[in-house]
Amino acid sequence: MRLRWSVVVVTAVAAVGVRAQMPTTTSVPAAGGPIVITALGHASVQIEQGAKVVIVDPVSAQTDLSRAKRADLILVTDIHPDHFDPAAVARYLKHNFRAELVSSEQVVEQVAEALNDEVILRNRVHAVVGSSPESSASLTVGGIGLHIRRISHGSGRHAEIQNLAQVVTLGGWKILHIGDSDAGEAEFKRLDFKKEKLDVAFIPFWYLTDDKGVTLVKRYVRPRIVVAMHIPPGELEQRTAEIRARFPDAVIFTQPFETKTFQ
Ligand SMILES: [Zn+2]
Repeated sequence: MRLRWSVVVVTAVAAVGVRAQMPTTTSVPAAGGPIVITALGHASVQIEQGAKVVIVDPVSAQTDLSRAKRADLILVTDIHPDHFDPAAVARYLKHNFRAELVSSEQVVEQVAEALNDEVILRNRVHAVVGSSPESSASLTVGGIGLHIRRISHGSGRHAEIQNLAQVVTLGGWKILHIGDSDAGEAEFKRLDFKKEKLDVAFIPFWYLTDDKGVTLVKRYVRPRIVVAMHIPPGELEQRTAEIRARFPDAVIFTQPFETKTFQ
């Protein structure tokens, strides 16, 4: 958990101009209908296509989750409270019998306690990444593709935190979320996200406000659309200017519950 986590509710907004600047050779039409992305606040995002809804990092303290959809797939990037709300995740699983959780062993351990339901736990909760820093998983849940790997949350007390880099494949689109990543060049080089040919990447602002971080994103992530996340509300103006200077086309969240449709 970064010290400067926010409670602002923010939204993915990609201007038409952003699409216009994408190389047409990499344009991927979303098979099965448009993809709608709504930033729920802080690092939380809702990704929808048709009836399918994926929610990353739902946290009641960050947003009004009653305004979010019923998630079919819940992803949680790490156990820190700005990304993980065990009670909220348990509610999603109890209120939608189709909902599944895919996350780390650390997250699932806490969800199991909050859930207290062996049947749901056995059938719809999946711990796919564990204590090895290089553990990874590829799976499909309800027609949604997932490629999940650990990405460093930093050293010291954060070294053991199972923070996840999650690539969601939906309608042919590849969408990356890297949570609280603190990875440096060697790790980005190993993970080599650009191989995934990403359409959208949710990147914490600290990579986008620093020249070294920008180099990592451009060299090893290379998404068509960069979406900045995790910006503290009090720093929005300053961070926006810093990001704009380095990534003029980045999508920066500003308004609660706005949505953007990609098609
Ligand atoms: Zn964290």
